[in-house]
Amino acid sequence: KEEQPPYPPALESTYKITKKTLGVGSFAVVKECIHRSTNQPFALKIILKKAIAGKEHMLSSELDILKQVRHPHIVSMHNLYESKDAVYIVTDLASGGELFQQLLKKGSYTERDASNLTRQMLEGLLYLHERDIVHRDMKPENLLFQTIGDESSLMITDFGLSKILKAQDDILTTACGTPGYVAPEVLLQTGHNKPVDLWSVGVILFTLLSGYTPFWGEDQASLFESIMSGEYEYDDEYWSDISNSAKNLIDRLLTFDPNKRITAEEALLHPWITGSKGAGPRNS
Ligand code: ADP
Ligand code: MG
Repeated sequence: KEEQPPYPPALESTYKITKKTLGVGSFAVVKECIHRSTNQPFALKIILKKAIAGKEHMLSSELDILKQVRHPHIVSMHNLYESKDAVYIVTDLASGGELFQQLLKKGSYTERDASNLTRQMLEGLLYLHERDIVHRDMKPENLLFQTIGDESSLMITDFGLSKILKAQDDILTTACGTPGYVAPEVLLQTGHNKPVDLWSVGVILFTLLSGYTPFWGEDQASLFESIMSGEYEYDDEYWSDISNSAKNLIDRLLTFDPNKRITAEEALLHPWITGSKGAGPRNS
């Protein structure tokens, strides 16, 4: 376990950093902090500079852009601090935990709930894409519930940073979790634009409805092969009761050619998302 470097004095004078660790990601440790003058709780994301070695020049310009982002389904950044060894980002607190944890607990979601969650992801993504921000790391660990309870709003976190963080280029060589949500064009190194996020939404949606991921492999190499084949199935045992409209949206998200893949804007108009589930004419 690594020691945390000392906090910048300006951070400590504005926020009280509590002992509570909210989560640990592939790059960051996230702690809870309290704004001293308002008593309002926030999350403090601590990224060691080792993780961005060689890309320090991108840090301030990227973070300046990310700091402008304000949307109900996106975790906003409120303050930034920097020391010799680390970057500290103060963000909205999402106290309801990861979608990943909820999914593990529930097994799978009903179509109604999955549609509602997917709509929130798409609204957040549309906002980012309109500003030319590509998330590049959409997965259930990066989707957080704002509050505890079933009616909680879902928020996207960890956006835009993958551009600066080191391992994205070394995706084939790092063992930082299962990259089962990555689009084929990322693995084939032929693209990393907005459509990569819609692919990931497709994998997430498939997983929400069935409880398992569409692409699978015993080791990373066979997982990558599975993704790059672009082939997946709706196994009757899990999918026979699920509507064609849901499958149609998944198919349009998991479209191999990024130029033909559905966009966030289009997906928000899909009947399975707008609520006329299965009723309206099929998209052609
Ligand atoms: P990384 O870039 O290292 O993946 P994340 O931003 O995804 O870091 O944070 C890691 C984990 O910390 C998340 O999966 C989540 O469990 C927790 N976490 C992150 N941001 C917040 C937040 N704003 N509120 C509450 N928990 C958070
Ligand atoms: Mg993360």
